Amino acid sequence: MKSGFVSIFGKPNAGKSTLLNALMGEKLAIVSPKVQTTRHRIKGILTEKDYQVIFSDTPGIIEPRYKLHEKMMQAVRSSLADADLALLLLDIRDNWEENNTLFESLRLKVPAFVVLNKIDGMAPEKITEATAFFTGKPYCRGVITISALKKKNIDGLLKAVLEMLPEGAPFFEGDDLTDLPTKFFVGELIREKIFFLYGDEIPYQATVLVQEFSEKTTLTKIRADIIVQRESQKGIILGEGGKMIRQLGSEARKDIEAFIDRKIFLELFVKVRPKWRDTENFLKEYGYN
Ligand code: GDP
Ligand code: MG
Repeated sequence: MKSGFVSIFGKPNAGKSTLLNALMGEKLAIVSPKVQTTRHRIKGILTEKDYQVIFSDTPGIIEPRYKLHEKMMQAVRSSLADADLALLLLDIRDNWEENNTLFESLRLKVPAFVVLNKIDGMAPEKITEATAFFTGKPYCRGVITISALKKKNIDGLLKAVLEMLPEGAPFFEGDDLTDLPTKFFVGELIREKIFFLYGDEIPYQATVLVQEFSEKTTLTKIRADIIVQRESQKGIILGEGGKMIRQLGSEARKDIEAFIDRKIFLELFVKVRPKWRDTENFLKEYGYN
């Protein structure tokens, strides 16, 4: 039996969440073309007869301009320090040198693979060239090329990962895919919809707090608060005559029903909490710790 912790690390948009989803075969992390959607340290637990791999998807790297951002960087660092193996993921079309500098700056103590993502549609020479660029770098045990989106070489990656993991008993029991409660993922699915439905600053100013998650006989009742910083943002979330929030609710409902495989009744409320992003207590209350 092999078991261990694997951290997926990389710049925003490298494809960390997509890779985690591909590895897990279920939608656990939210995926969005916008940056900063993954704030939490999400773990996916892949358990088979002879192995257990615990993946974490770190938040993207950003400047600690707000307290929230500092928390995100702490999550990145703690997740890397805990791991048995790190996957340093990058978009093959991104700047290799810049990624190299970033990977070097982590001063990793754990072994790492460089994972070149988004090889779909890339010329084979480009892939060979990128592989050669990262091969032999001090932090790099090997280069693996994949397409997380097209699920190309995901099994090759998993095989390489397993070779690096120590022998040991599983850390988690049963068939739990993750140690985070369903409630958390429900909040993430609602937040993902906010990213797709609203422009500009709104998604970065809003958070979602699931207040009630109760199983009734024929459906699950879910009540969630969308927390924003200003009245004007509340107005945008609601839309004219509540048009936008109705659309948000109906789209989120479909995804949540698919995720928990059950009919739901979803109630959404918008609340204004000035400066929630900078307040230590709010961050604690909303799970950023
Ligand atoms: P994260 O910020 O690192 O978590 O990146 P995401 O997983 O959210 O992905 C960012 C964007 O890249 C999304 O639009 C994904 O669909 C896209 N993406 C991820 N993996 C691939 C891939 O293998 N090929 C292509 N073409 N796009 C990808
Ligand atoms: Mg992500």
